[in-house]
Amino acid sequence: MRIEILNTGTELLLGTTRNTHGTWMGQELVKLGLRVQRQVTVPDGEPIEIALGEAMRRSDVVLVTGGLGPTSDDVTRESAAKVLGVDLIEDEAALRSMREYFEKRGRMMVDANLKQAMNLVGADVLLNENGTAPGIYAPPRLGGEPSCAVFLLPGPPRELYPMFHSEVVSRLKALSGVEEVAEVKELKFVGIGESEFHERLDEELGQIAGLEVGYCARLGEMDLRLIGTGGVTEQGALRAREEFGEFLISEEGASLEEAVVDLLKRRGFRVTVAESCTGGLISSRLTDVAGVSEIFGRGFVAYSNEAKVELLGVQEKTLERFGAVSEEVAGEMASGALRVSGADVSVAVTGIAGPGGGSDDKPVGTVCFGVAVAGQVQTLREVHPRSRADFKTVVSQRALDLVRRIVEGRRLTSL
Ligand code: ATP
Repeated sequence: MRIEILNTGTELLLGTTRNTHGTWMGQELVKLGLRVQRQVTVPDGEPIEIALGEAMRRSDVVLVTGGLGPTSDDVTRESAAKVLGVDLIEDEAALRSMREYFEKRGRMMVDANLKQAMNLVGADVLLNENGTAPGIYAPPRLGGEPSCAVFLLPGPPRELYPMFHSEVVSRLKALSGVEEVAEVKELKFVGIGESEFHERLDEELGQIAGLEVGYCARLGEMDLRLIGTGGVTEQGALRAREEFGEFLISEEGASLEEAVVDLLKRRGFRVTVAESCTGGLISSRLTDVAGVSEIFGRGFVAYSNEAKVELLGVQEKTLERFGAVSEEVAGEMASGALRVSGADVSVAVTGIAGPGGGSDDKPVGTVCFGVAVAGQVQTLREVHPRSRADFKTVVSQRALDLVRRIVEGRRLTSL
């Protein structure tokens, strides 16, 4: 079934409101075994009529959001009437439910609201328990040829989401006749890129009949998306685990920090962090995870040389000899943090975020990591020449992953 989402609203194109309906509906539709083939956003007014006409010609279902309110820029209902070639009539049930809505809240219903009770002849009214604007469902037969079902849904998420569940889902199920919902698996990997997957696994996964494979690369991590029915997703996941298991951090959508905190709890390891160039980002990410206090008591932001000496006991002569961004200093930061905090494992980062401050042997993006556990310290040096913000994110990602790897007893290697 070809489904198109048509989001209306000038504010979505001005950029003042983030268009979240497409993402939300996409996820809800996948749960029903359905997929969005296109999402279009138009401003209020005449473009709605044009876009709806186009969408109906290429789709089986169009889900329109927004523009059902009482103001003059809310013209979705009128636009749909024109495109479908049907009249609008006042709907008694819609009017009654709107009156009840206002009465319950002790508010007066003004004349402008009356237009919200107008329905397309032959269409169903979709009751809105969370707002004034009822939705509308025009079944395929209303659209003439080629036939297309049209849903007109309110813009505010608090109205749209419940209406989608109570009024749209059952109709979509009946329209689609999907019996077996495809399973979606998302495996999250850290420390490995798309190209490695391409080289070692892509072709093989492509040969699994009925398996749809997708990749989504993000900063410092990559998702492998497997979609299919009848166990093919598990078949694909099994191969991915065999090939890249050591880089796999979650299969249920958990973030790296969630996976790391979970691992530390299971293994009974307390962690601490000594941060220079990330300025607290690693601690911040750890504390995004509820219940982290069980394994995280303190972290250190040691940005200046003095802070590294005073807070972590880094030797002045090490700083002088090797410089603040060096494996030697990272190692002393890690062992100092472990000593001062009494934690079981520590990670330290020191680097050059840029844009200035680089040199020939230590260019912008250079970062040194120290990881200390049970009296042993390991260090690594990497270069990630990126914007300042991206550099911090990638370094925090690497630091968290190094903690994961050392706790799992894996080898630490530079990227
Ligand atoms: P209302 O009765 O509130 O006017 P409406 O159906 O006419 O409802 P809009 O006026 O188009 O809806 O949008 C109302 C509000 O809903 C917007 O200001 C915005 O906050 C939110 N909204 C609308 N469309 C989207 C979208 N695509 N993504 C996220 N939020 C949205």
